[in-house]
Amino acid sequence: MGRMSVVRRLNGALILAMESSTVTAMSTRADDYLVEVKDVYEWFPIKGGLLGRTIAHVKAVDGVSFGIRKGETMGLVGESGSGKTTIGRCIMKLLPVTKGNVIYDGTDITKFKGQKFRPFRRRMQMVFQDPYASLDPRQTVRSILTEPMKIHHTVRTKQEANAAAEKLIDTVGLNPDHLSRFPHEFSGGQRQRIAVARALAVNPDFVLLDEPTSSLDVSVQAQILNLLKKLQGEYNLTYLFISHNLSVIRHMCDRVAVMYLGRIVEIADISTIFNNPKHPYTNALLSSVPNIDPRKRKMDAEILEGDVPSPVNIPSGCRFRTRCAYATPKCQEQFPPLVEIEPHHWIECHYDIDFKTARPTLSSEKGSSTITP
Ligand code: SF4
Repeated sequence: MGRMSVVRRLNGALILAMESSTVTAMSTRADDYLVEVKDVYEWFPIKGGLLGRTIAHVKAVDGVSFGIRKGETMGLVGESGSGKTTIGRCIMKLLPVTKGNVIYDGTDITKFKGQKFRPFRRRMQMVFQDPYASLDPRQTVRSILTEPMKIHHTVRTKQEANAAAEKLIDTVGLNPDHLSRFPHEFSGGQRQRIAVARALAVNPDFVLLDEPTSSLDVSVQAQILNLLKKLQGEYNLTYLFISHNLSVIRHMCDRVAVMYLGRIVEIADISTIFNNPKHPYTNALLSSVPNIDPRKRKMDAEILEGDVPSPVNIPSGCRFRTRCAYATPKCQEQFPPLVEIEPHHWIECHYDIDFKTARPTLSSEKGSSTITP
């Protein structure tokens, strides 16, 4: 898959840009990345008939490539069903990928299992959306924090484990008395602090944050987000931050990838995405964010119409064409390549659209860094 269509030079290195999904949306050296996702597919089979044969697939992730640089917060945003949580689970190896590769700190971990994967499991931790469900109700907080330390041999004695638990609980803003309590004795925000402490218990260098504040009150959300930012600096962490909330993404992330129906349609640094979106889907998502300042409200906001198509029957050509206000016959016939429209800014669209004038230009005509299909 993936006929090479353009070869260009960037920073003295050859960047091979491929016409299909095999393009990795990154333009720095591979060793700058802690995590690399290379052309990953996650298809779930649908069985049917008397013999239980596979009759179709749910294409939850359909050829996704991106890299996460050491020390950065990479955001993953999109509507429900866009595949953002699935790609997070593929990275964490909670799901076996159908095709493609996950590279962690230069090592291809796609096929790693058991003992071989254990050192990477310690380095890669996760904070889930629902702290009520992610903490074992029968364990005390002390046990929740010290158990992973023992499993991964990050402490040698019980005293060391207890001292580390006391330090951790203090770091996340709780006090040592809380160590002897059970999860049901805490509020939602406190439980999420415990979940964060558990993730840090084994000294990870990568943390997947999957909607970590979605189930919390707004006042508590800000506290948890600020805590996560503070800990990132203290523990030198790299984050993948998954959210459907654009305001939270803007507050937390250095770069952001926008997902639609199993693919990344735009990827750039945070200010570029918010100030100069280039994909119609990103533009529509941003238009839908309410603004309390009436002077800044967009009267011509683009409202996304219709539902996300089924991941079983993905539209031909551009998968966003059934909801795109700028779609042309070409969008129905041809799959749009991932194009670097300006340095470090990639879109999967045939056109470079000026959203103020609604005037599309072929993205392949924009600058020297674009890809001609
Ligand atoms: Fe819209 Fe066509 Fe661009 Fe797809 S390729 S986002 S349908 S203009």
